[in-house]
Amino acid sequence: MEIKNVKGTHDIFGEETKIYDFLIDVFSHLCQRYGASHIIIPTIEHTELFQRGVGEGSDVVRKEMYTFEDKGGRLITLRPEFTAGIVRSFIQNKFYANDLPCRLFYHGSVFRYERPQQGRYRQFNQLGVEFLGSDNFLVDVETISLAFSFLKELGLDKNIVVKINSLGDLETRNRYRQALKDYFAQYLPDMCEDCQSRYELNPLRILDCKVDADRVYIEKAPSISTFLSPQSAQRFNDIIEALKQLEIPFEIDHTLVRGLDYYSEIVYEIHIKNANEGAIGAGGHYSTLIEELGGPKMSGVGFSFGLERLLSLFASKSDLASKVVESKIDIYVMPVGEGVHSQALKIAQYLRENNISADIYLEKTKLGNMFKKAQKRNAKFALIVGEDEIKNQTVQLKNLSTSEQKEVKLSDILKTLKE
Ligand code: AMP
Repeated sequence: MEIKNVKGTHDIFGEETKIYDFLIDVFSHLCQRYGASHIIIPTIEHTELFQRGVGEGSDVVRKEMYTFEDKGGRLITLRPEFTAGIVRSFIQNKFYANDLPCRLFYHGSVFRYERPQQGRYRQFNQLGVEFLGSDNFLVDVETISLAFSFLKELGLDKNIVVKINSLGDLETRNRYRQALKDYFAQYLPDMCEDCQSRYELNPLRILDCKVDADRVYIEKAPSISTFLSPQSAQRFNDIIEALKQLEIPFEIDHTLVRGLDYYSEIVYEIHIKNANEGAIGAGGHYSTLIEELGGPKMSGVGFSFGLERLLSLFASKSDLASKVVESKIDIYVMPVGEGVHSQALKIAQYLRENNISADIYLEKTKLGNMFKKAQKRNAKFALIVGEDEIKNQTVQLKNLSTSEQKEVKLSDILKTLKE
């Protein structure tokens, strides 16, 4: 029986991989310009890291983690997100003893046992940053600016909206949590099962419920803006002013809460305008996570983008994709006749070693068929290697857009191609 991929996973190949690599390339270079360095952390961590870091009350920890016992009896989890692992590394490797904030960027797979649907996978890829070790509101702003610049470089800045909210400090959230409990108590019996368990574990998450019948109650719920402590309100205002100065467009959305429990103060999400799908990227500030995981009392801030969500945007906009995917190869090598194939292969190898992309047709077939293949591969030139050519140490070089053909000495190929 044929073995298929695991439900909720997917292969990325062909043109999509080119866009994928391009996204990572643009992001990595941009992060480096922001002074961030690349961090690669393990895919597996001790389960306790996420239980303590992401929070027992979060949906991710309650029902979405891939957890197993390894052969040594350790409880291990495939990372469902990057922040907890990066904070673990920050503490363990004492990055906090260096210049702060410590700016890190990452990309890689994450795993969540969610219900697979359009744009939602069980193994998906994220790219993002964590800026650790500073409580300055401007560091929060810097991450939003980086996320925005990334989308600008991709030509997407006009299609997106940055939504921001403040979850305030601990005092704010305690008071708001109580106010939400008081408000939702009367409607709870009519609300969905998820909301009922969120009511006990983390009532803020009720605001994130997508069930239509529940939205009626949620829309009338008290707003966090009236509960912000004076310090949190000031911080939120400072951030708003800085975003205006940087000309980063944003919308304030007081119902915005994040699924991961560690956030405090600013949280943000980036959505595609007029689209109903989930966010393409999201992030926020965390004040206590580093300390909770055994590190010093320091804050951090970070965001992550879903690579699959970005990929699907490119797929739906062919002008974007064509900008990225210049899939032309330089040369299509065509061996014609007997005993020329290994020589042709050697020529292809020589071209590749000299930074020229070359494809070669290795089966015996008519020249006409090879030209059809070359056309399909978008090759710029055909390089015909025949028996006479091998004898004379030459090749026929045909420009496939002008149809101009000339004989070129093997030793002159590179020079001719450069011309
Ligand atoms: P989060 O780590 O939950 O803040 O999510 C950050 C980003 O990852 C989201 O904005 C999405 O773009 C992406 N994402 C989250 N969950 C999934 C999923 N199950 N499948 C694909 N992308 C996802």
